[in-house]
Amino acid sequence: MLIVMKIGATKRQILEVVQGIEQIGYEAKISKGAQRSIILIHGNIGYIDEAYFNKFSGIMEIIHISRRLRLVYRENMGGDDTIVDIGGGLKFNDSYSQIIAGPCSIESRDMAMETADFLSSRGIKIMRGGIFKPRTSPYSFQGLKEKGIEYFSEAAKKYKMKTVSEAVDEYSLNLLNEVVDVIQIGARNMQNYSLLKKCGSINKPVLLKRGFTASLDDLYVSIEYILSEGNQNIIVCERGIRVFEGTKQRSIIDFLGVSDFKEECHLPIIIDTSHATRDRKKVHSLSRAAMIYGCDGLMIEVHPDPDKALSDGPQSLSFSDFDLLLIDLKNLSQFAKKPLKLHNSGQKK
Ligand code: PEP
Ligand code: MN
Repeated sequence: MLIVMKIGATKRQILEVVQGIEQIGYEAKISKGAQRSIILIHGNIGYIDEAYFNKFSGIMEIIHISRRLRLVYRENMGGDDTIVDIGGGLKFNDSYSQIIAGPCSIESRDMAMETADFLSSRGIKIMRGGIFKPRTSPYSFQGLKEKGIEYFSEAAKKYKMKTVSEAVDEYSLNLLNEVVDVIQIGARNMQNYSLLKKCGSINKPVLLKRGFTASLDDLYVSIEYILSEGNQNIIVCERGIRVFEGTKQRSIIDFLGVSDFKEECHLPIIIDTSHATRDRKKVHSLSRAAMIYGCDGLMIEVHPDPDKALSDGPQSLSFSDFDLLLIDLKNLSQFAKKPLKLHNSGQKK
């Protein structure tokens, strides 16, 4: 059973409902979103008469559901979009789309500074940067780990940017939880349910990437794992799904999946056009397509010197390529369902 509280329900009203649930012997878990709170009743094997809740105020709706997936579906959550607020006025799933840009990996202090300086001067306020890298080969660069945290945090602080970085296990999650603004869970860990549960219990937005062989239903299960632990602040990311193994074209962006997702789920979804294409020549046109098609934002890998990048160089845009793409996206933005939100506080250097 789910109790959806009214937008603006007070802390006291929420607490009274929680206590009411505990009084009848069940466990209540609060899921707090930017606009509304939902109270999930765990362990209710029997039927609870909803008349019991008439005495409480602040309740919008009571939903009886026993299905495997509950919180992920829009129809179970009052029909509205869930806005994910990452702070500093940056929101996903409101009427604008956002850009998350930055290198695949943080490689040095200078590189983190140079990239943050460039991006912020172009109005980009959310920087990505891998610190713990889940590479396809154990012999490839695995990220700077603790040193990377230091460099990324310094750069973000100096240029007033929000940060996104990937946690690959509980250890990295605990470290990153202290310092970054959004925790990324990568495609390879999309079905790491124990890590997802941990993400559900932290008080920080999570960027969940769809696994490259995951169906939408698989993705929904993973989202449900996070939601069921009380964290509604999830930004989902389509990053391409595998097709035609063994051919040059390794993956495609599942545009139809993105629109089905928008219909069925209340959470924001962005498109990562870098990992989806793995080829910088194709990032430009696919980013244009993604913005016009309709999503809540883009993720794009940008590197000061892509040919020397320690990870994902072939798909990373140079600063000048990124500038060209931004010109195009700005021009197209007026035709998009969700126009681009650039934050032109920075000075072009
Ligand atoms: C990344 O964002 O650098 C990454 C490894 O992405 P994915 O998990 O989508 O492969
Ligand atoms: Mn990458």
